[in-house]
Amino acid sequence: QTTFDVARVRADFPALHQRIYDGRPLVYLDNAATTQKPQVVIERIRDFYMRENANIHRGVHYLSQLASDAYDEARRLVADFIGAPDPSQVIFTRGTTESINLVAATYGRRHVGEGDEIVLSAMEHHSNIVPWQLLCEEKGARLRVVPVDERGVLDLEALERSLTERTRLVAIAHVSNALGTVNPVREIIRMAHARGIPVLVDGAQAIQHLEVNVAELDCDFYCFSGHKMYGPTGIGILYGKAELLEAMPPYQGGGDMIERVTFERTTFNRLPYKFEAGTPHIAGAIGLGAAVAYLNGLGRAAVAHYEDELLRYATERLQDVPGLRLIGTAPHKVSVLSFVIDGVHPYDAGTLLDQMGIAVRTGHHCAQPLMDRLGLPGTIRASLALYNTREEIDALVEALHRVVRMLR
Ligand code: PMP
Repeated sequence: QTTFDVARVRADFPALHQRIYDGRPLVYLDNAATTQKPQVVIERIRDFYMRENANIHRGVHYLSQLASDAYDEARRLVADFIGAPDPSQVIFTRGTTESINLVAATYGRRHVGEGDEIVLSAMEHHSNIVPWQLLCEEKGARLRVVPVDERGVLDLEALERSLTERTRLVAIAHVSNALGTVNPVREIIRMAHARGIPVLVDGAQAIQHLEVNVAELDCDFYCFSGHKMYGPTGIGILYGKAELLEAMPPYQGGGDMIERVTFERTTFNRLPYKFEAGTPHIAGAIGLGAAVAYLNGLGRAAVAHYEDELLRYATERLQDVPGLRLIGTAPHKVSVLSFVIDGVHPYDAGTLLDQMGIAVRTGHHCAQPLMDRLGLPGTIRASLALYNTREEIDALVEALHRVVRMLR
């Protein structure tokens, strides 16, 4: 295991070295929303547009070949990164949201009927709720929601009880964006598979923190976004088991996803192209490939170890702030520190922190049902990335002391 030199890592991220407002050093703690990008990703995208830009797969010419090769290479990098048996099981989408919508619109439409059920957890992000809700409305199916306890831990026994002969799919976050809880997805998948039920994992908050191997997990679908793992916005991944993807109808119709078109009938291209209609986000995919290579270079175990220590340090330090209550105290967590402070509205705290140069997120974090369950209108959320430091945590804690003095 390589040692992790955070000062060197920070030097890779130009956005972190800015001063904002009246010269305050930026403390960026909104990484669950999106991460900053290392220079290698920025440069890779720039290079693509400078030297390789062309459309892919259609051109016989030199630049088209370069672009196609780079796009294919990015897919291979992602496939290796997540342990996908074959790159054709890795589909480029716009992000987690589109990946989930793709599965709902294709697999869901085909397999979910009246009276059927889709099992979710109470800690899902809206993008792993609403697509299923829309599908259920269309089909006369319904959602079954597995509860979480006060700590933000999923009730596994309730999950097991909610799996019935009507269950068509379990859709579950690997990591909660609002609490940081790591869900025992491997166990959940085993439970569901024992009853022949497929599982979709929303990995948007897991892929940048944990070593994910989709083959070992044996998940049926795994979704994530490039922009939360140091890659560009507008690009994401849907991984699926080959036999499921093969059997699914296409998502969108258009160029590149066909084998042969006549006005009578169209046959579809093989995987992954069947699900990639139209010109994709070529530069985005290549940028994501660069982010994967960057993470591989740092060593995922070293990153996880560093982040774990930092989370532990931050969790301890935050207890010093008068009236602060951590929301989400699951034994297995990554990255996220969600909290409320007695007598302080989260939005006011966020605004004051911002003036002190500290970026956090406040509100419901696109998880309103979870906030309802916890009886909170929202929280203040600091979310850590591999480039954050103990000094930044100290700055946050100090700033929170000031916030408390000012607002109470
Ligand atoms: N699921 C989870 C757990 C998330 O945290 C997010 C992003 N906040 C999403 C899904 C949606 O991701 P995107 O907006 O990149 O599509």
